Amino acid sequence: MPILPRQALLLAWIAAACVGFVVAPAPASPPAMTHEEIAAIQRGIDRLVDDTRAWQRERGDVVIPWPEAQGHLAIVIDDVGRELHLFEQLLGLRFQLTFSVLPGSVYAAGAQLRLRGDRRRYREIMLHLPMEPIDASHMQAGAEVRETFLRVDDDPDTLRAKLEFALGIVPAAVGVNNHMGSRLSADAVAMDSLMSVLRDRGLYFVDSRTTAATQAESAARRAGVRTLPRAVFLDEDPTEEAIDRALSQAAKMSRERPTVAIAHPSPEVIRVLDARLPELRRQGVGIYPVSQLLRAVEPAGVP
Ligand SMILES: [Zn+2]
Repeated sequence: MPILPRQALLLAWIAAACVGFVVAPAPASPPAMTHEEIAAIQRGIDRLVDDTRAWQRERGDVVIPWPEAQGHLAIVIDDVGRELHLFEQLLGLRFQLTFSVLPGSVYAAGAQLRLRGDRRRYREIMLHLPMEPIDASHMQAGAEVRETFLRVDDDPDTLRAKLEFALGIVPAAVGVNNHMGSRLSADAVAMDSLMSVLRDRGLYFVDSRTTAATQAESAARRAGVRTLPRAVFLDEDPTEEAIDRALSQAAKMSRERPTVAIAHPSPEVIRVLDARLPELRRQGVGIYPVSQLLRAVEPAGVP
């Protein structure tokens, strides 16, 4: 078959390229480094390692490796985003607290940025989802008017839409717990409709247990959503002595099984956590993000 002029041209071009590749001189190798230069680089690396170790010693998180701890406790700080002063102090604690952000709060976005601001210190973020309480007047009190509560009169589609909207405001959330909700969380149909959203998004649920009649945890289990109940409210009685006692109780429970405690930002909570968490650590009780507790308690095969 005769070779067409265009094919001949292409073959000639390929041949020329091959020849060029073979005969072209190799690029010059970079000049070898002197001993002084190598030593200077090494000094820089040593300084970086020393600085990192010093930071970890003086400011880094205080963590007990999971298998070495005798107690495993998660502390969820609720109502995050309403103020910054107490929040910053909680953020300054060298323990892996979990922060649950209210979607309608003034500082919802700012708090998430701060929580994500230091990559060396993981601070887990949850969505604190407002749900209707038995006393409906609570939804109108103070800062609550900013929140879009999930109501018992909402149909399943409305409930799911409100949850999706709230997740859009707290996109960093890896889990959800309820704010109030003594009425709505007792409604099994409502809880079932919400859990499908959490399952699809791979989010976990912590039942705040604001009512003994809550259906939230069982709905989560039915839907295959990873879940743990709140075991202790640290500041149900907000005095320092009572918070101290509740923390001791939570620590004791955490030696039996991974335990979730909930607290709210207050000077008393901060003082107790600041004083007691290093002590608990010396006693073998570690503070972990909720997701780490869930990984330990979930039986294999559950998504
Ligand atoms: Zn709350």
